[in-house]
Amino acid sequence: MRPTTTPADRPAASAAPPPSITDVLRAARLIAPHLPETPMWSYPVLNAHVGAEVHVKHENVQPTGAFKVRGGLTLLAGLPAAQGKAGVLTYSTGNHAQSIAYAARLYGLPCTIVMPENPNPAKVAAVEALGAAVEISGATMVEAAVHARSLAEERGDRLISPADEPGLIAGVGTLYLEMLARVPDLDAVFVPVGSGTGAAAACLVAAAVAPRCRVIAVQSALAPAAHDSWRSGAPVRRAVGTVADGLATGSAFALPQSLMRGLHDFVLVHDDDLRAAQRVLLTEAHTLTELAGAAALAGLLARKEEFTGRKVAVVCSGANAGPAELRRLLA
Ligand SMILES: *Cc1c(COP(=O)(O)O)cnc(C)c1O
Repeated sequence: MRPTTTPADRPAASAAPPPSITDVLRAARLIAPHLPETPMWSYPVLNAHVGAEVHVKHENVQPTGAFKVRGGLTLLAGLPAAQGKAGVLTYSTGNHAQSIAYAARLYGLPCTIVMPENPNPAKVAAVEALGAAVEISGATMVEAAVHARSLAEERGDRLISPADEPGLIAGVGTLYLEMLARVPDLDAVFVPVGSGTGAAAACLVAAAVAPRCRVIAVQSALAPAAHDSWRSGAPVRRAVGTVADGLATGSAFALPQSLMRGLHDFVLVHDDDLRAAQRVLLTEAHTLTELAGAAALAGLLARKEEFTGRKVAVVCSGANAGPAELRRLLA
């Protein structure tokens, strides 16, 4: 039996069933008018460096600079009409925030984002430019979540969990449909993990359309909640020490964890590995990423002996590097 206690930094695990491949196909039709397919390129110099045929899926070119917008558009399109003019409210360090703010603007819904103190200023500016209100509250995501929950209750807003939402996972699944339609015989795909929506979606889609393709998750060794929960089979909380804000999640989420049972493996990487991979993407793939956006490649580099001569995809999940990160990358 899994423990039934619920960490305080998220709503009770949604009773909603996990999305199916049919939900992902529906999401693909739904987002098509708003988001074109993202490119996936293979770079000869990068291939030589890794010793494999590497396909880089470029989610850094999404209008919000990260893959999450696929999930935000899908989730908000599916909100019941009874929602009326009530707003949506969520908590996030940044890219989930931009995804929900982007979708709320498209569908004309008021949107509030609660962020913990000391947020990435580039992400705050991006959310505000999309017309959402930002409230800074709490030293950590745990405290920001508590504030978000009471604020949503007070206002009658729809509280959106960063991950325990079938609509988010179905939307993110469209990334892996595009990837596997483009290169159906991939041996493996490396997916960066914070809350786990990406890894869950990859497991769901690969199982349905390319069961030979291994899904390998990558998380920060300095924020390993999803990894440790996956290994132990029970949700655990872990301190967050990574500077990669896209991966800075302190607890596991039930819905993605249930789908992540389909993972082949789960790799932990340190911030120095993320920085090295970020530099490789800059110099060998002409691509500027935030640290989390380089995590998948960092995971592949950590395991490259296993994949010599194979066909492997890495998700370049986001581009939103803050000023401090940029200075360090270019120093
Ligand atoms: C959110 C995010 C991740 C992690 O994705 P999850 O679905 O939360 O596991 C990785 N990279 C970037 C750039 C992100 O924004």
